[in-house]
Amino acid sequence: MVYAPVRPDRSLPPIRVNLFSDTQTRPSAGMKDAMLRAEVGDEQNGDDPTVNALCDRMAALTGKQAAVFLPTGTMCNQISILVHCRPGDEILAHESSHIIANEGGGPGALAGAVILGLRGARGMFDSTTMKAALREKRRNAPPQTLVAVEQTANAGGGAVWPLAQLTDVLSTAHELGLRTHMDGARLMNAVVAAGVTARETAEHCDSVWLDFTKGLGAPLGAVLCGSEAFIDEAWRWKQRLGGSLRQAGMCAAACVYALDENVDRLAEDHANARALARGLAQVAGLVVEEPETNLVFFDTRGTGLTADALAGKVRREGVSISVVDPYRMRACTHLDVDAAGVESAVRTVAEALR
Ligand SMILES: *Cc1c(COP(=O)(O)O)cnc(C)c1O
Repeated sequence: MVYAPVRPDRSLPPIRVNLFSDTQTRPSAGMKDAMLRAEVGDEQNGDDPTVNALCDRMAALTGKQAAVFLPTGTMCNQISILVHCRPGDEILAHESSHIIANEGGGPGALAGAVILGLRGARGMFDSTTMKAALREKRRNAPPQTLVAVEQTANAGGGAVWPLAQLTDVLSTAHELGLRTHMDGARLMNAVVAAGVTARETAEHCDSVWLDFTKGLGAPLGAVLCGSEAFIDEAWRWKQRLGGSLRQAGMCAAACVYALDENVDRLAEDHANARALARGLAQVAGLVVEEPETNLVFFDTRGTGLTADALAGKVRREGVSISVVDPYRMRACTHLDVDAAGVESAVRTVAEALR
């Protein structure tokens, strides 16, 4: 799926309800205040106390030995792949995963790794599917070294991997000698929705990261966690790729603030997503997937309109929703959308289709 950046069209009215993505949140007054007050130092030297505090906290949260602060989630994925894989290695991941569709071919371009896309409902797969994809160890087969999962599964509808299924897949991967990686862009959405701790969710992951720029509302930053040895190697790639920072505490302070203030409230986003799905399901012709977290996917085929056409109509009324396929749309709730906004968006969609 592609979320193509759209240049602002000045003929359009301002956006009233922004369901385009949870990446579009603006730092709140409290978050900006925390950023201004941050103690800082030279991050590259390990001297930034706020970055260090954030990394210690994330390592503890995920039950890993160490952590490193990175500018983006994409860099967390790419560095993890660079550490886990050598050129020619094959990664097993769901066919709809972000590392396949949305990272510019990074695994091939940077690590020289190829990815085998696995099938399964809602962006997830089981250990039977994974085992069926394993190759005989032949000299002419690519070495399969890594299994990657997404929690929550973005293109899978924001689905939460059930802990038993996740544990089965990842522990089977370990038994078979593969390493395991979790793209936890929305890990805390999964934690809040399922009532399972981040530590339990990440227990069988050799690497796991959390994005602070999705529902957590920070302007930038992600933290990658793993063993001491893994994070040492990740640091080398951070340096090589130009991801080592200076007074990054100003940004890390936003992430610390997000952990304190914006995690529990993700439950509100999930409730708003359920209300949005219920409202959209009442609109004739729309087929809405049941949301588990803050992502609501729906199909416009039954309305006679393409997703592009419907997105254009509602955007002209100040409601922004993203297009993922010719007939599939994604509406995303987050801390800058409240229950009234959701109601108003549903009315706008219904009117657009009348
Ligand atoms: C957003 C996202 C990423 C990339 O994170 P950025 O911080 O935007 O680079 C990776 N994986 C998933 C599942 C995502 O939703």
